[in-house]
Amino acid sequence: MTHYFRSNVEAMAGYVPGEQPKPGTPIIKLNTNENPYPPSPIAMDVLRTLDSECLRRYPNPFANDFRQAISEVLDVPQDWIIVGNGSDDILNILVRACADLDRSVVYPMPTYVLYRTLAEIQPAKVVEIPYPDDFRLPIAELVAAQGAITFIASPNSPSGHVVSTDDLRILASKLTGVLVVDEAYVDFADETALPLVKEFDNVIIARTLSKGYSLAGLRLGFGIANPSLLSGLFKVKDSYNVDAIACLMGAAALRDQTYKNECVAKVKVSRAKLLLDLKQLGFQVRDSQTNFLLVTPPKSNANDLYLALKERGILVRYFKQPGLNDKLRITIGTELQNQSLIEALIHLV
Ligand SMILES: *Cc1c(COP(=O)(O)O)cnc(C)c1O
Repeated sequence: MTHYFRSNVEAMAGYVPGEQPKPGTPIIKLNTNENPYPPSPIAMDVLRTLDSECLRRYPNPFANDFRQAISEVLDVPQDWIIVGNGSDDILNILVRACADLDRSVVYPMPTYVLYRTLAEIQPAKVVEIPYPDDFRLPIAELVAAQGAITFIASPNSPSGHVVSTDDLRILASKLTGVLVVDEAYVDFADETALPLVKEFDNVIIARTLSKGYSLAGLRLGFGIANPSLLSGLFKVKDSYNVDAIACLMGAAALRDQTYKNECVAKVKVSRAKLLLDLKQLGFQVRDSQTNFLLVTPPKSNANDLYLALKERGILVRYFKQPGLNDKLRITIGTELQNQSLIEALIHLV
């Protein structure tokens, strides 16, 4: 028994990321919702032609080149944008700035597991509100929990559903704390809650380049909110939280909307096809506005199926959690990868 750590850190399990096999390993990786297509070629050119001078110096503390690109593409003023080392960094900054044992972190369940991890590290009080079976947002319960922060992932992981902007507007108007709308998967969805930041100074939208823009390895995300909300977050963030390479590549990737939209369109076509193929095999499949599907296998045990697929070189995500332990979360791959998955499943279910 050591005494190096604070008691909350000693007690917590720690976030368990999805398995990340070495690049080049012959594996079909459908477990952590990466985009199956490569990043924008224009962003890759930025990397190839990088001036060493921009590495010798410290980066701009606010990632202004990237903010400029966001401002142009999303039509929001630059001072309404905070940039992070992945959107996980934005979520972390929010918890550090707003929550403690008297100021709770609230979210509907099931959702992104990191919210809980961040609260445990802080430590902050956590209130988890179960989603009903139809995934309607439990607005009254969320409001009653009086969170200093309320996290809503929309589209949500692992369910894949979108929370309507109308519901989020009602929630924002009733909460006294901050409403974080985590839009990590927004590029694959039909709806964004972005307009709410102009209506409410307690709403922040978190976005990432990890999913829609195929740049999970770059670690780049951002938040959009009223400058009055951002002012507290800027005090808490690391002074140089975004590196110079990420800032420049991210700006190029964001400006290349044509390429991103092409990749997203391909994923959406594959999503519809994979959903039908899985249903044909007897899986229950939820409609999804993301780049993954949450599925219930026809008869075989989800954990066994996860292991059997892994043995055949296909990684999907299995959550050992009440309510999810009979399901698998499957990232949409390329057409070829999805075909291999279906072929493997034909023999397994
Ligand atoms: C992937 C994901 C993120 C994390 O994105 P990064 O920018 O890679 O840190 C945040 N929220 C949800 C719900 C996600 O699925």
